[in-house]
Amino acid sequence: MDAFTEREQGVIQVRAPLPFPLRWINGYLIPDNKGWLLIDPGLHTAEAEQHWQAVFAELSIRPQDVHSIVLTHHHPDHYGLAGWMQQMTSAPVLMAEKGYAQTQRMWGAGHRENAGAMLDFYSGHGLPASLEADMSGHLLGFVELVSPQPEVRYIQPGESLELGGETYQILEASGHAYGHLLFYRAASGVIFCGDHVMPHISPNVSYLPGVDENPLDSFLKSLEQLQSLSVRVAYPGHRDPFINWSERIGQLLHHHQQRLQWFEERLLEPMSAYESCRALFGDRLSIHQLRFALSETLAHLIFLEKSRKIKRCGETYIQYQRQGETP
Ligand SMILES: [Zn+2]
Ligand SMILES: [Zn+2]
Repeated sequence: MDAFTEREQGVIQVRAPLPFPLRWINGYLIPDNKGWLLIDPGLHTAEAEQHWQAVFAELSIRPQDVHSIVLTHHHPDHYGLAGWMQQMTSAPVLMAEKGYAQTQRMWGAGHRENAGAMLDFYSGHGLPASLEADMSGHLLGFVELVSPQPEVRYIQPGESLELGGETYQILEASGHAYGHLLFYRAASGVIFCGDHVMPHISPNVSYLPGVDENPLDSFLKSLEQLQSLSVRVAYPGHRDPFINWSERIGQLLHHHQQRLQWFEERLLEPMSAYESCRALFGDRLSIHQLRFALSETLAHLIFLEKSRKIKRCGETYIQYQRQGETP
């Protein structure tokens, strides 16, 4: 894997390493007459630190040349290194207020209570007791990967952001991450879209209790709105820049419609979210993959429940079953 690739108008795509199957997250360095703006530094690991230091050395970028660190969303693979990068560069970290609230909930002072509540939630949806300790360790293990945490300034959807001397609109799209931001310039057809739309990867859509009551609905509605943007090149959070924006969104919409249909057909018999997840994704998932697969399954089941296609049943834990024809 190359450390970085120069894209049009001097945009540098930095492939910051990740210890997950995704392999890397794209940071972007964008030059302007004040220095460099950096989008999404990555996850805080020793490998990611070394990677950025090597990229800065290769491009002769001094830490003080980075004047802003901008985050598309709060997920640890994007936010995690922001505090370290801020300490090195002294640059402000700009992100959405909704995203920052999530970081504090998951990795702030109350992170143990939050992890406990998430574990109870998963157990209530059928996660076996034998996996609880692993899941708890997984949830708590992210704190060190996002520390030190940065001081942040909020940026809002509807405002504009200067990227490379050009004015970009800040758009908000939830579903993959609550309050996820995208940066779009209609005049040039360029969008920095984070993880909301990616080539080859269907962005994870997770239900988390107390955040978004119907994240799949948020995701599908936002995709329908974003599909009509005139995009010439899209810079995603993972994989490589792509050009088939509307077509890719059409594929993602189709994927979820098919998956909803799959769940609906399976739920002639009652099943828990955990059982449905195993039926769809199989038995060979790491705890990391299981957590995302289970949360994604829940996003689909809750969407179907809210659409009155399935209903809750079950006594010891929550199960779902297809609804008869509702009057
Ligand atoms: Zn993400
Ligand atoms: Zn990501």
